[in-house]
Amino acid sequence: MVKNIIDFFKNLPAKQCTKCSSYIEEQHECYSQLCDECTGVKDL
Ligand SMILES: [Zn+2]
Repeated sequence: MVKNIIDFFKNLPAKQCTKCSSYIEEQHECYSQLCDECTGVKDL
């Protein structure tokens, strides 16, 4: 049933920042619904 799991993740809607409406590629649950810029997470 591994194939079904792959399809499940493919069908997952892309995360979208609730602040700037930009799509979030990473899957960090701790970031809630905000992108890196809105969460203030920058390496600079
Ligand atoms: Zn954002």
